[in-house]
Amino acid sequence: MKGVLLVISGPSGVGKTTLVKKFLEEFKDEVVFSISCTTRKPRPGEVHGKDYFFVSKEEFEKMIKKDELLEWAIVHGNYYGTPKSFIYENLLKGKSILLDIDPHGAFQIKEKMKDAVLIFILPPSWEELRKRLLKRKSESEEEIKKRLAQAREEIMVSKEYDYLIVNDEVNKAYNQLKSIYIAEKRKTNRVLANIEKEIKDSYLISLIKGEGK
Ligand code: 5GP
Repeated sequence: MKGVLLVISGPSGVGKTTLVKKFLEEFKDEVVFSISCTTRKPRPGEVHGKDYFFVSKEEFEKMIKKDELLEWAIVHGNYYGTPKSFIYENLLKGKSILLDIDPHGAFQIKEKMKDAVLIFILPPSWEELRKRLLKRKSESEEEIKKRLAQAREEIMVSKEYDYLIVNDEVNKAYNQLKSIYIAEKRKTNRVLANIEKEIKDSYLISLIKGEGK
């Protein structure tokens, strides 16, 4: 199978994590989550190797030098990046991959992989986004200000994405996300690529069995 590379972005507090978790739970047999590396400190409840690989600045810079990252960016003053090997290994296995990354990273991925699907999650309003960030209480006032400024910039580039979902109601937003994924799997080039692969595989099998002489 040729999997779908789903790239999801959206400002902090927009409810991305809830949507992503629900999606990964429903499609756990076919979709894997790309665990990013970051130099940000873990938040309460976050687990190394599950939410992120929490690394030092030195370790991260070493990964950049060794070209081990498919993309990377500095977000809110911290490094974030996608390890290359995991993506390639899973694409080879035919898995779909979900990446939760910022727009800089998303555009780097699209540049390298044209059939990546870019989805942006928008808040229903600016006021609602501010309210959600305040409710989260995991960041200082200064941090919230930084995140709102960043949100403004991110929303401005969302017009370059393939799909926009407004998260005003989580079930509605989730159904839209799911519909995009299901439709993308049926894209003609993906379906034909899968058939081609099956034909190639069965041809090779017949050769091995000596039927292709
Ligand atoms: P947070 O610190 O709230 O977990 O994430 C902050 C931002 O960094 C989010 O917009 C998230 O999508 C982005 N991010 C997480 N991992 C990566 C990554 O590997 N690469 C890039 N470019 N952005 C990332």
